[in-house]
Amino acid sequence: MSSPNSPNSPTSPTSPHGPNSPGTPRAGAGTGGAHGPRSTPAPPPGGAPVPLDGTPVPEGLALAAPPPGWAVTADVVVVGSGVAGLTAALRCAAAGLRTVVVTKARLDAGSTRWAQGGIAAALGEGDTPEQHLDDTLVAGAGLCDATAVRALVTEGPAAVRRLIGSGARFDTDAVTGEILLTREGGHHRRRIAHAGGDATGAEISRALVEAVREAGVETVENALVLDLMKDGGGRAAGVTLHVMGEGRRDGVGAVRAPAVVLATGGMGQIFAATTNPAVSTGDGVALALRAGAEVSDLEFVQFHPTVLFLGQGAEGQQPLVSEAVRGEGAHLVDADGVRFMLGRHELAELAPRDIVAKGIMRRMRETGADHMYLDARHFGARMWAHRFPTILAACRAHGIDPVTEPIPVSPAAHYASGGVRTDLRGRTTVPGLYACGEVACTGVHGANRLASNSLLEGLVFAERIAGHIAAGSAGEDAGPPEAAATEATPGRPEPGAPPGGPLLAPGERYAVQRVMTAGAGVLRSEEGLAEAAAALDRLHTAAAAALREDGKTAEPCVESWEATNLLLVSRVLVAVARAREETRGCHWREDRPDRDDTRWRRHLVARLGPAARLAITSTDTADFPPVRPGAGAPDDPGAASPAASVATARRRPARPSGTNHPEGTSGEHP
Ligand SMILES: Cc1cc2nc3c(=O)[nH]c(=O)nc-3n(C[C@H](O)[C@H](O)[C@H](O)COP(=O)(O)OP(=O)(O)OC[C@H]3O[C@@H](n4cnc5c(N)ncnc54)[C@H](O)[C@@H]3O)c2cc1C
Repeated sequence: MSSPNSPNSPTSPTSPHGPNSPGTPRAGAGTGGAHGPRSTPAPPPGGAPVPLDGTPVPEGLALAAPPPGWAVTADVVVVGSGVAGLTAALRCAAAGLRTVVVTKARLDAGSTRWAQGGIAAALGEGDTPEQHLDDTLVAGAGLCDATAVRALVTEGPAAVRRLIGSGARFDTDAVTGEILLTREGGHHRRRIAHAGGDATGAEISRALVEAVREAGVETVENALVLDLMKDGGGRAAGVTLHVMGEGRRDGVGAVRAPAVVLATGGMGQIFAATTNPAVSTGDGVALALRAGAEVSDLEFVQFHPTVLFLGQGAEGQQPLVSEAVRGEGAHLVDADGVRFMLGRHELAELAPRDIVAKGIMRRMRETGADHMYLDARHFGARMWAHRFPTILAACRAHGIDPVTEPIPVSPAAHYASGGVRTDLRGRTTVPGLYACGEVACTGVHGANRLASNSLLEGLVFAERIAGHIAAGSAGEDAGPPEAAATEATPGRPEPGAPPGGPLLAPGERYAVQRVMTAGAGVLRSEEGLAEAAAALDRLHTAAAAALREDGKTAEPCVESWEATNLLLVSRVLVAVARAREETRGCHWREDRPDRDDTRWRRHLVARLGPAARLAITSTDTADFPPVRPGAGAPDDPGAASPAASVATARRRPARPSGTNHPEGTSGEHP
């Protein structure tokens, strides 16, 4: 089980192997030539589903695991306990639904408690949701769904107030009592509410954990969710999970529920260097893929421009130096003290993150350096201690004193803008399966997330899901509750649980991470992505061959399940990153440096088909109907298939992004 980190020691190891453990040598290096360029052409926009190199992606559509030995039943099972999961759980419980939260480590182990800068909402005088919407659409580089963004920015301020009602304490002006607001990259207004200076996430997490406990919501910690269970009609019927506990609920079990809310957070751990904690292994996206759900926009991984540089080859979670430091006036400089962002963008250091990350990478190339510097010496000791105590402590723990010297920084994997594709109610393409928070792709972020919109997205869309389920609609999507209420038979496979496939050995996790950073990091090209794809394929092929030939697979355990999830998510991410032959948002292709709206103002949607083959399709719309609005039955399954979604997209005339939903669809909101 991954154990949580301390907020003040972001590089402390969290897996048994530790972030700096030696892994397998870089698998992708120097091997692409031997395997040659990939044989699969990129899917043409609107084209037919394209199998990934013609090979099945996973063999078996579930993680290999012992059969469940125990089961519990609920109305709703929430997977994950960050801002999204706990908000969904609180609201579901308040509506009288029997809600169980299951979470991989401790309740506060996800990214939420690490969030520094704050939460964006139009709370300040003169600011409006419309201005927040404009900034979000600009950052999203033509791929935001304007209706989803409108929901975010208009419902955001009230959601933040409800969060305050749940006990979160934001920094306020000592005289007026008004919430203090700061600015971050891409925002034209001061609209970022923060807490404890730069400890916003820790405060939100504290407040929500306390609120969930006070509300008596059942929580199961150290519970790694493996796979989705479905009923005979293909609807979600609960999850299988492994609990490291004592007594009745120990080992592999099942939580049966007609509504499953995925809130498993991000996937930063697929890269060698990331700001994400050890639990962020993309499990929710992997589960959704195995369950046949669509994932979208996976290629858009945001690399945070200013992560404390700990030397070439540093691995695992790295300390973040929040954008708010730049918001308060810190400058990016090179080794000669030159402010290289001036003249590159009108907002200079406060340009959207991808622009700043690219600016840093370009300057690193120009000067042959492996990092740049963030200079905030002019803040002085008092402001550093008062406004950014967490960052100050993290820097000092690594021997850097920001009060007297510039901070060495370089970009690292930070945020997954894509994820499990949902509609405005958080429904995925699998009836009864919902997703919210970083694991979801609601259409809010497009090709690049605007700073501090993610905590807000978690809040707003979790509330939307809870509203939808509480309104009694989940039954429509999720099938008859009886299907989930049958007693489990210990020692037998759960009804609806698919057979397991090969597991990756725990040590291979590091091979996956190094391959991803080398080939699918900030700078991408067909050559590098091809090498990455070949290296990842070899890891999979070796695991599959061992299972086929000897009937052997890695021992089922937390580390092998996580490694297997990392590999699946990485393979799909590399496939879509190769397919998108342009540069847009946080997807930067050196060999395709221009944005190509004619061909690529579209979403890439990936899905594992019934034969476990990856189909990648593209669509010009974020609009999809997994369940017909108002209908009592789920869609014709064909309507959710990649081929069908392409057909749908073809019927629609190309529209500028941001106008995909007619305004009237806001009537769907709960
Ligand atoms: C260092 C850092 C700073 C950030 N700063 C900001 C900021 O200032 N503002 C902002 O808006 N955003 C910020 N972000 C992003 C933001 O914190 C996240 O996007 C957000 O907190 C995600 O919330 P979540 O609830 O979706 O997931 P998380 O908070 O990551 O929670 C995911 C949960 O799922 C659990 N889980 C994962 N896999 C499984 C499994 N298989 N079974 C059971 N449970 C599982 C985890 O243990 C965890 O409880 C920051 C992120 C980082 C890493």
